[in-house]
Amino acid sequence: MSQRQVRESKHFDLLSLTDGVYACIHKAGGAASSNAGIIDLGDRTVLVDAFNTVAAGRDLRATAEALFGRPVSTIVLTHFHDDHWIGASAFGAETLFLASEPTRAACLDEAAELAESYKNRAAWETELAKMEAQLTRETDERRRVGLVNGISRTRYTMAEMADFTPRCADAAFAGTMTFHGAKRVAEARSLGRGHSLDDVVALLPHDGVAFLGDIGFFDTQPFMAYCDIDLYRKQLAFVRDSDVSVLVPGHGVVGGKPEIEQELAYFDALEDLVGEVVEKGGSLEEAARISLPAPFDRWLFGGMNRFEMNVRYMYKHLGGQIPGEG
Ligand SMILES: [Zn+2]
Repeated sequence: MSQRQVRESKHFDLLSLTDGVYACIHKAGGAASSNAGIIDLGDRTVLVDAFNTVAAGRDLRATAEALFGRPVSTIVLTHFHDDHWIGASAFGAETLFLASEPTRAACLDEAAELAESYKNRAAWETELAKMEAQLTRETDERRRVGLVNGISRTRYTMAEMADFTPRCADAAFAGTMTFHGAKRVAEARSLGRGHSLDDVVALLPHDGVAFLGDIGFFDTQPFMAYCDIDLYRKQLAFVRDSDVSVLVPGHGVVGGKPEIEQELAYFDALEDLVGEVVEKGGSLEEAARISLPAPFDRWLFGGMNRFEMNVRYMYKHLGGQIPGEG
């Protein structure tokens, strides 16, 4: 099928990776803060993830439909974190929403929590006002960028929370699910626990392309708060050792094997520096004062909260004691 001209989205950039395979990369100031993928199997369209807002999900649907002139057949979800599936609510019943068994189960809990939280609009308004007030006082540029992003994300979410109905996966698989299309083969493969409790990668073996979900954070800090670092490293090693060269992360820019090595190097740098603090009996506050070497210092822009969560995870992982916690 010939590919058509599509309208540009203000939420994401559409990058052509190879004929019929696209990465949708979140744009600053837009309603997407994660990435998605569009795959033409020849006779049907498969997406990987669906963004963190219905607004961005709607654009994803419009883009995929415009590209190939047909509805989306399937959305494959990489993991249960809601910044990857809230936008699935923008799709109709003709689109199958597919996840691994553990991810589907976790999404049901997550969806219930989300629906509960959206009922309390006042709490969101308070949080937004707090961030806006902080922004007027904050002088640290790294925290300022984080606040600007947080305010933008909160506003987009608040704009749609009144009408939001969560959509969870309609079907679940265990292990690997292979799609045999008229033009290409795609594989959704669970790599088990690591970044989250279960992470799926979408592999296009004949194209050398992989959509990594949050196993990949390229040129930006990984989110480690609930990870298992040893298994997270194994997931990255699996990708590094696979026969793929074009890698689409869950967050950040499209990359390849060097970006996988760099993410592993971030884990090592964080482990070494936090480890030194733990070894001399230093507190969590001292650990949070470590300075990461280049290029990781630049990754902190917009994510000091995330950095502090990662330090906290590593501090506890290495045996550091946090008062009041076991
Ligand atoms: Zn995630």
